Amino acid sequence: MLYLSTRGGVSNLSFKDTVFEGLASDGGLFVPEEIPCLSEKEIEEWKKLSYQELAFKVFSYYISDFSTFEIKDLIFQAYKNFRTSEVVALKNFGDLYILELFHGPTWAFKDIALQFLGVLFEKLLSETGKKINILGATSGDTGSAAIYGVMDKKNIAIFILHPYNKISEIQFLMMTTVVKPYVYNLAIEGTFDDCQAIVKSIFMDIPFKKKYALTAINSINWARIMAQIVYYIWAYFKVIEREKKKSVRISVPTGNFGDIFAGYLARKMLGEDRIERLILATNENDILARFVNYGDYSVREVLPTISPSMDIQVASNFERYLYYFYDKNSEKTRKAMETFAQEKKLSFSKEEVQKVQKDFLSVAITQEETLKTIKEFYNKTNYILDPHTAVGVKAGLKFKDEFPLICLATAHPAKFPETVSKALNFNLKLPQEIEKLYHFPKKFEVLPPEVEKVKNFLQTKALI
Ligand SMILES: *Cc1c(COP(=O)(O)O)cnc(C)c1O
Repeated sequence: MLYLSTRGGVSNLSFKDTVFEGLASDGGLFVPEEIPCLSEKEIEEWKKLSYQELAFKVFSYYISDFSTFEIKDLIFQAYKNFRTSEVVALKNFGDLYILELFHGPTWAFKDIALQFLGVLFEKLLSETGKKINILGATSGDTGSAAIYGVMDKKNIAIFILHPYNKISEIQFLMMTTVVKPYVYNLAIEGTFDDCQAIVKSIFMDIPFKKKYALTAINSINWARIMAQIVYYIWAYFKVIEREKKKSVRISVPTGNFGDIFAGYLARKMLGEDRIERLILATNENDILARFVNYGDYSVREVLPTISPSMDIQVASNFERYLYYFYDKNSEKTRKAMETFAQEKKLSFSKEEVQKVQKDFLSVAITQEETLKTIKEFYNKTNYILDPHTAVGVKAGLKFKDEFPLICLATAHPAKFPETVSKALNFNLKLPQEIEKLYHFPKKFEVLPPEVEKVKNFLQTKALI
């Protein structure tokens, strides 16, 4: 499989070429030349596979530059530290299913992609003899998942900025209790926006970026998307076998559109009638819900909510969907994204909205509804949802009809104990593995919100 840019300016890249690149040089995102559509025979075979075997089948379509053995080994390495043998787990409540994606080291779904990316980075670096320094800003989940993905990997150092005293205690503990030689937590005396601005400014210093081989680890990375396709297909097979039906709906708590875009690709691979539609669930930051329902993709202020990992207005993977929506017309995609960059909005016609609605159903869920959903779901089932998952469950229930419903559980409730305890009216009991973080030593540096100070720090610690 070869890769090209959604904007048409770059083509014929191998899988390996896409791994260290964020954006393509023309400003677009990488997509595979083709999305394979599974034959009936493959569907029959794939049904019986374990998660890891299924990952191997999916990855083999998209990776031409590794051997069979290498791909299998990458998958084994990536998922050996998960708390379930099948990587994910499915819980069922009537014909509503919760697909638990939080059994990795940081208790949220980003581990599924980032554990894979970590082993992939290490392998490619050992082939080329290079070293990289990963730099990123986080307000929570991504930072810890990235750190756990690359810690103990050869030739990689990681620097993660977070706003000091402004992230949740659990998020802070998860990151800072990683006391390892090449892991640096920079607690910035400022806001998350300050952290992001510093990172952006450092990446714009091209000589500095080159000298230290600075690398981003964001959700536009193709390998991350690819890794996420697997659980959609895995869950589909499990559910249809139980339900003796052909079609399901899948509800996805959405922020940057990375997870649901993987679902979109899984739907293309399986055949569009098998995943009848994807339910795009947002919180009050509803740009994507407005897009699906009214063709209004216009940026508003970000509102901080109780599902913080979805507090996003500009969804960085949206361009990938647009490319397929425009039937792979890169000229149209480029023009739309240029318009969006200038006007901060895109509007779509009624006919276009109808076309979008063949792929997605969507609704924005308020914080009040989210809390209520956590409570009601617990009362009915004794199962505790995290606030992100609750957004997806509520959205799924709003569209519930004859299709079995799969709701993706993107984080364990213990990552958001304050919100969940508030919803339930009792204190959530934390799993021991999380509880014990409170007693571990921590490693972090407090720095003022100044680009130069962060650069100085990088210069003294970076691997070169
Ligand atoms: C990142 C994240 C999301 C949103 O996923 P996207 O791929 O950005 O749409 C949802 N829930 C949790 C817990 C997350 O960490």
